[in-house]
Amino acid sequence: MLEKVGEFYNMDKVIEEFESLTKDAGKVQRETLKRILEDNASAEYLQNLGLNGRTDPDSFKACVPMVTHKDLEPYIYKIIDGESSSILTGKPITTMSLSSGTTQGKPKYLPWNDELFETTMQIYKTSFAYRNREFPMKNGKALSFIYGSKQFKTKGGLVARTATSNLFRSPGYKHAMKALQSQCCSPDEVVFGPDFFQSLYCHLLCGLIFREEVQLVSSTFAHSIVHAFRTFEQVWEELCTDIREGVLTSRVTVPSIRMAMSKILKPNPELANLIHKECVGLSYCNWYGLIPELFPNAKYIYGIMTGSMEPYLKKLRHYAGEMLPLLTADYGSTEGWIAANVNPKLPPEMATYAVLPHIGYFEFIPLTELENDFFLCIDPNPVGLTEVKIGEEYEIVMTNPAGLYRYRLGDVVKVMGFHNSTPELKFVRRSSLLLNINIDKNTEKDLQLAVEAAAKFLAEERVEVVDFTSHVDLTTEPGHYVIFWEISGEASEKLLSECCNCLDKSFIDAGYTSSRKVNCIGPLELRVVRRGTFQKVLDHYLGLGTAVSQYKTPRCVGSSNSRVLQILCDNVVKNYLSTAFN
Ligand code: AMP
Repeated sequence: MLEKVGEFYNMDKVIEEFESLTKDAGKVQRETLKRILEDNASAEYLQNLGLNGRTDPDSFKACVPMVTHKDLEPYIYKIIDGESSSILTGKPITTMSLSSGTTQGKPKYLPWNDELFETTMQIYKTSFAYRNREFPMKNGKALSFIYGSKQFKTKGGLVARTATSNLFRSPGYKHAMKALQSQCCSPDEVVFGPDFFQSLYCHLLCGLIFREEVQLVSSTFAHSIVHAFRTFEQVWEELCTDIREGVLTSRVTVPSIRMAMSKILKPNPELANLIHKECVGLSYCNWYGLIPELFPNAKYIYGIMTGSMEPYLKKLRHYAGEMLPLLTADYGSTEGWIAANVNPKLPPEMATYAVLPHIGYFEFIPLTELENDFFLCIDPNPVGLTEVKIGEEYEIVMTNPAGLYRYRLGDVVKVMGFHNSTPELKFVRRSSLLLNINIDKNTEKDLQLAVEAAAKFLAEERVEVVDFTSHVDLTTEPGHYVIFWEISGEASEKLLSECCNCLDKSFIDAGYTSSRKVNCIGPLELRVVRRGTFQKVLDHYLGLGTAVSQYKTPRCVGSSNSRVLQILCDNVVKNYLSTAFN
């Protein structure tokens, strides 16, 4: 346990500790692996692999196979079904986490335990310490757009909920957030409310009531912040009325939320008038600088802003105005945490994450090996944490204290440098190919760049892309890419046709362009969907148990994800076929 200064952790000590741990990251990795293997030596999974008490990296690599989630499912289902013996971990698992499921279409079950909570706190403390050195806060409150998800019991009686809900419900969470000056200004009833819109509305209301104290505006992923302020544009007058009269809108119907809010909401015409006046002014400039105007003491905006969140940066910057910095949060997954942002002054586009060598054992498959794996079916050979090379890309393999051993996470990262001897990673993309028909290979990042290029045309008519996704349509001969766009207003036919051509031209991968030229891939199709379509997609995932806090718009919707594809196709208002290669 770290020493505290008053109510808060001693941040100098946290930095000192991290600097020391990263000086010899290789040694710390070996110790971490030893600890994980010793703590879980009695687990059925490890017992069957013939380690016989050995805990060194070479024996570990020789005996333990690399796995994907699919390989572990038989073990995970035994746990879910209530077999109480040690299956993946020494201490039996009693709680399950659900991943967001937005990359694969359905949530995955993963073990959760106290050790994972501890690693989360290690990450939070580390990044906070570095952040607070550059952007100090004092007794601040946070307007945090966080949402607990529904929870349920599995067949075997285990509690299952999303990883973020497991975190928010952990006994030490609130206390730790207070010590990290990131205490959410909304009551628990709002965070754990059963209706997303009602919780979001009340988060906004609490933020306004405590506006002088709010020093941080945050969420797990940046998408939730953008979504929240887009909603604010729609409901600000209603919020002002509530504050003026001290009565919560009748649109919030959940009794526990109403009860909790009644303790906070008191008539305050002065505040209501002030916010009203500010909003009238803001609405004339398309809500530019909305966040610092409403929260004058906010020091920065905080949430994961890299990877699939990058497309929201433009809008977030618009809301943040010129002066309020955007700080990307840390790097992790439902499977476990990986790395912290210890260079908070870097803008999100340049952000890197320093791996914490004591929270898991990490291996890295060079991307070239991955290609061998794909084409030649040669088993990839990963390297250790301190053996990675600057400028190279790798897929991460994780061993964590919650029963995952040499687990392929499916993320590709690039090594940008080292913090002492631990690598600083840039998140590149999910490793799965996204768009592929012929010899073309386009990833999530390629799609994002194409959308960014085409969206520049829209700016001419002051319209923006609200959200987007893609689909490979093989029902036509030849197959073709379909891009779905939700846009913020009306754009002319001519402009949208230009956008469509630009999208087609912007996939610069040689496999795509050559296939397009000889018509092995048909013209790209841009389908514009009705306003609110992506909200429907979000609602669909919420219905499946995904928490808004972990939501990531799926950037490619396969035919197997028929419900989401249906939602998109049912809402198409216009479509365009590219003439770029005619
Ligand atoms: P989930 O477990 O469903 O919440 O999603 C975890 C995934 O989110 C990771 O495997 C990454 O693909 C992505 N992710 C998490 N943190 C970051 C980050 N800092 N930057 C980019 N992507 C991230």
